[in-house]
Amino acid sequence: MGLIVQKFGGSSVADADRIRNVARIITETYRRGHKVVVILSAQGDTTDDLITKAAEINPEASRREMDMLLATGEQVSCALCAMAIEAMGYPVISLTGWQSGMKTNSSFGNARIKRVVPERVLDELDRRSIVLVTGFQGVNKYGDITTLGRGGSDTSAVAMAAALQADLCQIFTDVDGIYTADPRIVKNARKLEEITFDEMLELATLGAQVLHNRSVELAKRYNVNLEVLSSFTGTPGTKVKEVVKPMMEKTYISGVAKDKDVARLAVIGLADEPGIAFRIFSLMAKEKINVDIILQSIGRHSTKDISFTVCKGDLEQAQKVLDENKSLLGFDHVDVSDNVAKVSVVGAGMVNNSGVAATMFEALYNAGININMISTSEIKISVLVNIEDADRATQVIHDRFFDEYGHRD
Ligand code: ASP
Ligand code: MG
Repeated sequence: MGLIVQKFGGSSVADADRIRNVARIITETYRRGHKVVVILSAQGDTTDDLITKAAEINPEASRREMDMLLATGEQVSCALCAMAIEAMGYPVISLTGWQSGMKTNSSFGNARIKRVVPERVLDELDRRSIVLVTGFQGVNKYGDITTLGRGGSDTSAVAMAAALQADLCQIFTDVDGIYTADPRIVKNARKLEEITFDEMLELATLGAQVLHNRSVELAKRYNVNLEVLSSFTGTPGTKVKEVVKPMMEKTYISGVAKDKDVARLAVIGLADEPGIAFRIFSLMAKEKINVDIILQSIGRHSTKDISFTVCKGDLEQAQKVLDENKSLLGFDHVDVSDNVAKVSVVGAGMVNNSGVAATMFEALYNAGININMISTSEIKISVLVNIEDADRATQVIHDRFFDEYGHRD
């Protein structure tokens, strides 16, 4: 007997049948004697539809009013699911972000959870109720409704699990776990039995769309036992935890991820003197533009070039800022491309094993794929390639690591 937090994504509650299916999973867990707290997302495309509706009325709507609107999607799911559970004869109550003590800051549209004060949730659990809580939403110190950013319900679930010191946090979705690559791109992608928080964080940040990366960060910080599984198949999913079982076979990586939301800027012909990189990246930081891969190279006539990547949505702004500061920075010109993608391998096992980078580059070389930029961290190697090569790069790298060296689960 324990306390289990279960989260169901939008596709799992998309219509009446699916809500009944979710109600069955929840009540089954409850019948086994567990205390159950459930976080729900809005049904199907509800959040997108609400955004479209808002744009029809006022494309420049304030972020506060957007949050007021978007938070309604999760309330609908919770109330409907509570009704389904009531109909099955179980004690149940649904609560909003406010009622369940999700305290956030005031960054409407992308609020951060400051703390969770789950008194009401605990009271209801003591009464043996199943407690349903709206995902994605919270409340700021003025009592205004906030939302956590797209995909934020995962983070609501992990925050609630941490606050309640739950024994397990299960994230139910429409895929049955974490794969070694996106199964829609890589045919022989495999489901992992388990993965470390650090690897999952890299994969989530690098574009694997299964978990909100802030939820993984939180799970790591509070050591929340996480499991990602399907609400449709009933099969075991992937466990995300601090340390995984020792690897039986010789694969040092856990996954290959592709991210198309990237653009490259190259600042050409900079003076080769101290302070240039500092100036460029302070300008970016001032605009709150996140910079990812950075490369500095020697140009002609004792100048240097600095190239870096940003997400596609920031490209225009980054270019504008550079142009506006052309005389301050003293460069020749800026070359940009959004025709690029980032392909990465992630694996805690590469820390102690040389040769992972060489293996990855060899796979790309054999496939005739050119690398534009490279970056590495302790557990990740990323390359920037032309966008038309991205899917093939993902496939050949995956083949090289998983089909020739065996796999890890
Ligand atoms: N409903 C919100 C969204 O679509 C939050 C979530 O599903 O996690 O982004
Ligand atoms: Mg989601």
